[in-house]
Amino acid sequence: MRTARETLSQIAQRLADVTETPQFEAELLLCHVTGWNRARLIARLDDPVDTSVLEPLVARREQAEPIAYILGTWEFYGLELAVEAPLLVPRPETEHLVEIGLTHLPKAGARALDLCTGTGCVALALGHESGAETLWATDINPVAIRVATENFRRHDLPVHVGQGDLFAALPTAVEPFHVILSNPPYVEAGTWEGLAPDIRNYEDPGALLSGDDGLDCLRQIITQAPMRLVHGGLLALEMGETQGATVCALLEARGFVDVAITKDLAGLDRIAHGIWDASSTSSVL
Ligand code: GLN
Repeated sequence: MRTARETLSQIAQRLADVTETPQFEAELLLCHVTGWNRARLIARLDDPVDTSVLEPLVARREQAEPIAYILGTWEFYGLELAVEAPLLVPRPETEHLVEIGLTHLPKAGARALDLCTGTGCVALALGHESGAETLWATDINPVAIRVATENFRRHDLPVHVGQGDLFAALPTAVEPFHVILSNPPYVEAGTWEGLAPDIRNYEDPGALLSGDDGLDCLRQIITQAPMRLVHGGLLALEMGETQGATVCALLEARGFVDVAITKDLAGLDRIAHGIWDASSTSSVL
């Protein structure tokens, strides 16, 4: 049997072509099969490990399957979530949506909605950090509904879940929200082939693609959101890095004010947000 140290270095070599973080992923895989945490792994680098259970997992990652699918869990906003194919693996840039939502929730009686919730990551983090009174999470995909429900239960967070297309997933009687957040599909059809194989070959195209310009879903959300927001409520939307000017123009044309962009940690335009002004004479897009 090989030692943990030798095993790590061998896995990292095999993964060098599929990921920018081969050493980190080798550690994740080894911790996953041994049940060790990272501190324990470092203390036991000279221990022998049984590599037979690791082999099929490394082989899957060599085929560019997302590491989160192989592990079955992933971390978002410091919370561990169940993740399974083909749901979008929660990405660090989506954490900005939560940060923006948190700044806008009233202290008492807050109502918030996460549209296109996928694994439930945004609703979960928002609820976990804020104690919002009423949380809704919706998605069109039944797998998302099942996994998000499991994640809310895992963290003991009461979230109402609705399946359906955008706002159609909500019962009509739901009170208007103070905050609506969404990471909808926004990838342009023409850029599909250029996406990394981890994304293109594994994640649900329905959670990524949204028409020729990638804006179909964002347009629908911006058109419909005012019907579901209180006056002064926040709409914050994740988008592609080239879509900022267009999404801001759509928000302003619909009657949102204080429209602004938040960049992600890579310095790219990532979230567009605005405040619903019910007195505006907006055009329907
Ligand atoms: N940022 C994601 C990607 O690159 C896209 C996520 C989305 O469409 N919501 O793949």
